[in-house]
Amino acid sequence: MKLTVVGCSGSFPSAESACSSYLVEADGYRLLLDMGNGALGELQRHCGLYDLDAIVLSHLHADHCIDMCAYFVARYYRHEGGRCEAIPVYGPKGTEQRLTTAYADTPSERSMSEVFDFHDLAPRSAFRLGPLTVTADRVRHPVETYGFRVEHDGRALVYSGDTGPCDALCDLARGADLFLCEASFTDGKEDIPELHLNGRQAGECARDAGAGRLVLTHIPPWTDPQHNLRDARAAFGGPVEMARPGAVYEI
Ligand SMILES: [Zn+2]
Ligand SMILES: [Zn+2]
Repeated sequence: MKLTVVGCSGSFPSAESACSSYLVEADGYRLLLDMGNGALGELQRHCGLYDLDAIVLSHLHADHCIDMCAYFVARYYRHEGGRCEAIPVYGPKGTEQRLTTAYADTPSERSMSEVFDFHDLAPRSAFRLGPLTVTADRVRHPVETYGFRVEHDGRALVYSGDTGPCDALCDLARGADLFLCEASFTDGKEDIPELHLNGRQAGECARDAGAGRLVLTHIPPWTDPQHNLRDARAAFGGPVEMARPGAVYEI
């Protein structure tokens, strides 16, 4: 698998990065994990506008899904070749309605379903997308939110979504080759366990799960990434780095 960081800023975009969005490619298949603010523009640096095969949304906070409204325009009103075929879009229950409401004036209430084939995620569920096997489980966040384990050819990538410390995340990350984990908070500064992780907690989860490599993501512009990097390294003991826009990982 190849992972490309499209955007990795937490909560709102930074001057350097769009919000959460990660492109996963294997055998020519392209899956996008999340499509937060600014992601659609950045995505076009890495693949064609119409080259995505599926999209999976961890939750419906704007920093993870709002560019789906812009992507609807691109697929529904395509100038050449007519309207796009519907591609699978997995998200929490109510994703279609939420995106339709956010868009505000789609031609009909079901217009989005003409270009997106919506599927509800469920806890502890697994599904196939092309050559990829995706396992989803509920993580700890104020709204229905999922973490994902994406497997291909014996290799595993795990993405935390947004979460506080929870067993479900550790179980998903068990033995992952690459663990893409949020670290929004600063240890000792913010402590809201049902909202986000700090660098230390991300490192502890990677250690407990026996992950091979930890990549910290979803750092908001007001959080010091170096602080979280130090904390995660101390807790994990394995290789840790910060996600950055355009970074590519072979898994
Ligand atoms: Zn977020
Ligand atoms: Zn969130």
